[in-house]
Amino acid sequence: MKKFKADLHIHSCLSPCSDWGMSPRKIVQQSLDVGLDLIAICDHNSAENAGAAMREGDRQGLQVLPGMEICSREEVHILALFDALDPALEMQAYVYAHLPGENNTKVFGFQVVANEADEVIGENPRLLIGATRLSLHDIVDKTHMLGGINISCHVDRPAYGIINQLGFIPDDLALDGLEVSYHIQLPQAAQNIPGIGDFSCVTASDAHYLNDIGKVCTVFQLAEPTLAEIRMALARQKGRRILI
Ligand SMILES: [Zn+2]
Ligand SMILES: [Zn+2]
Repeated sequence: MKKFKADLHIHSCLSPCSDWGMSPRKIVQQSLDVGLDLIAICDHNSAENAGAAMREGDRQGLQVLPGMEICSREEVHILALFDALDPALEMQAYVYAHLPGENNTKVFGFQVVANEADEVIGENPRLLIGATRLSLHDIVDKTHMLGGINISCHVDRPAYGIINQLGFIPDDLALDGLEVSYHIQLPQAAQNIPGIGDFSCVTASDAHYLNDIGKVCTVFQLAEPTLAEIRMALARQKGRRILI
């Protein structure tokens, strides 16, 4: 078993609120520069830049998981992470089918789809920053059906955090873990955030700028840097665990 430094919540230039410099290639380069072993690309309600980041990760030697940060109809942000591009794109199709509205670039910003050669290959016209019509339970059920995991985002924050939005974490919501923002140190999460119960917590940068990548990260003890191993660490199984 080895230690792996993971930043599981990084936006790319596809997210309207992200910097244009967050191209798949530059994200991979910056992640390696700051010593990360594993990252996940999680744009708002879309995984269209995940494939480019995965291919660039293969080329440069960084493990990149495809994911997205989905906004539920309760206005809660939740990460859906996958171990391959196909299920991530299947999840994306499900999200798009329940995502109303069109982007207004003047209000929200551009949503750039880029390839691994740092070229712009398109712009996403959807209102990616908006809320889907999917409930948290819909999102978790579909993610699990596709073999993915769900981590409820920035649970310590007022905006789009589950505890602030709902007041509690529903008992029947099969989350795999929770994410705390950089405002709280991971070992202090349980005592500082009422209501997180026995959930495993990770922390991640939620980077919207290159310099934010790896600002905080989670160190896992895993056999290899895969989604299956992360799932085991979150469930505290077979010696896999979160170190810090
Ligand atoms: Zn968020
Ligand atoms: Zn985010």
